[in-house]
Amino acid sequence: MWALSVNNLTKNFGGIKAIRDINVNIEKGKIIGIIGPNGAGKTTFFNLLTGIYSPTTGEIVYNLDSQVRTKDLKPHKIVHYGIARTFQNIRLFKEMTVLDNILIGFHNRLKYGVGSTLLRLPSYYKAEKSTHEEALELLDKFDLLNKKDELAKNLPYGDQRKLEIARALAAKPKLLLLDEPAAGMNPIETKELRDLINWIREAFELTIILIEHDMSLVMNICEEILVFDYGNLVAQGSPEEIQNNERVIKAYLGEEVEEC
Ligand code: ATP
Repeated sequence: MWALSVNNLTKNFGGIKAIRDINVNIEKGKIIGIIGPNGAGKTTFFNLLTGIYSPTTGEIVYNLDSQVRTKDLKPHKIVHYGIARTFQNIRLFKEMTVLDNILIGFHNRLKYGVGSTLLRLPSYYKAEKSTHEEALELLDKFDLLNKKDELAKNLPYGDQRKLEIARALAAKPKLLLLDEPAAGMNPIETKELRDLINWIREAFELTIILIEHDMSLVMNICEEILVFDYGNLVAQGSPEEIQNNERVIKAYLGEEVEEC
């Protein structure tokens, strides 16, 4: 069963062809990695999946809570379709506490309307109470409970990344997109992140797509890897297949090895 089907997806920025006629199906419940050189189109692909950009041509079909076929997804609606993401540059409310950052994530999916919020009806208080408890539970699972009252900006880098993932999960997504989750992490933090991603996939029954330059993370955690180059999907396969793919070695992995 697939979670996401991308059909003939193309995105041009003027003369730049950032995504060129990509076709791919993403299987439900898998952890999928996207790799490729700088400028290959990886972030543009995420921005198309989350409605930040509209495709020049092609479409994306989501099969999450319900089937949604779209050419023009509104970013603010994304959360209601069961999609959440994190960003390459961490986007937290840095002057707010850790707990408040999570509570904001919950607000995206609360059922009560603006009316009951303004009038402070019982439904509002009930929802508030249970989200507060859920937020604390989520922080506990992410080992951040003892830091709940700290300002987000004062957390160590690795914890900020974790908090961003926790906040994304507060929206109860079915599909989680992680843009370079290991960027700036040390090897110990990266290993913890690997365990965390594996755990949340099971615990939250997620399909996860991650863009990542850290090859040890990608090769260890992903069941399938997509390789982008100049906006093209040039290879798709298991970590082993990708590591042995001549074209990928030439376009990307070879380069990486030389850099080390
Ligand atoms: P990196 O690994 O460096 O993040 P990437 O694979 O994510 O790179 P993209 O950021 O998707 O690559 O960029 C793909 C191409 O599209 C690049 O040539 C980039 O300059 C161009 N591009 C991306 N966004 C825009 C935009 N909003 N306007 C114009 N060009 C853009």
